[in-house]
Amino acid sequence: MQVDTKVKELKYRLENVENRIRKSAIDCQRDPQSIRLVTVSKTMSTKRVKEAIDAGVEILGENYIQEAREKIDRFSSYPVSWHFIGHLQTNKAKYAVRLFDLIHSVDSLKLAVELNKQAKKIDKVQDILIQVNVGQEVSKTGASPEEAFDLIKNIDRLENLCLRGLMTMPPFFNAPQKVRPYFSSLCDLRDRIKAVIQTSIPMNELSMGMTNDFEVAIEEGATLLRIGTAIFGERN
Ligand SMILES: *Cc1c(COP(=O)(O)O)cnc(C)c1O
Repeated sequence: MQVDTKVKELKYRLENVENRIRKSAIDCQRDPQSIRLVTVSKTMSTKRVKEAIDAGVEILGENYIQEAREKIDRFSSYPVSWHFIGHLQTNKAKYAVRLFDLIHSVDSLKLAVELNKQAKKIDKVQDILIQVNVGQEVSKTGASPEEAFDLIKNIDRLENLCLRGLMTMPPFFNAPQKVRPYFSSLCDLRDRIKAVIQTSIPMNELSMGMTNDFEVAIEEGATLLRIGTAIFGERN
């Protein structure tokens, strides 16, 4: 395929996603401005990332530190924000705080303590989300809803971390409606945590919804959508 055609296609897909977001938001009486799109660029070449930036994406989401580092270095002069959405190992915390504006996947106190320590070293207050395994699947990472309460109480004491909200990665279903209960549990959990835990921090973000189910996520209160395939096309 010609490069020009590929760029056009990406622009077209991005516009299509943005229009669907706007429409879903309006249909459920939400302000479209309260929903931000994280364009998931994992496995995409720097060339494709550049095309996405040129097409106007504002936030890029990456899953792997090594891969992200190359892209972030390359595009450091561009006005885009980078979010980490993959599983983060404690020994990579140092890189994560240097590279990312928001880390979506904090799921243990050990990781939070290390992120706090590394953020302190570079005099940064790191924005984070707690990843919750609302489906309680054995194979998935993320804190259980009970663990999330404990984690948040402890994180409140870590001065170089700022907790912005929760993230979830529900089980995969072909029918997006089947994911709805997982999204609504995450929203409930956030509201219960806010009611129970006395915290000065905002905790408003809900990172949920991907290519297959983002419209349902919007209906259930998502504020950050993580979308890859609908924008870049299928990953190899
Ligand atoms: C890959 C990935 C996405 C994007 O998935 P698509 O189905 O391509 O939109 C979102 N969130 C996480 C955590 C991912 O790993």
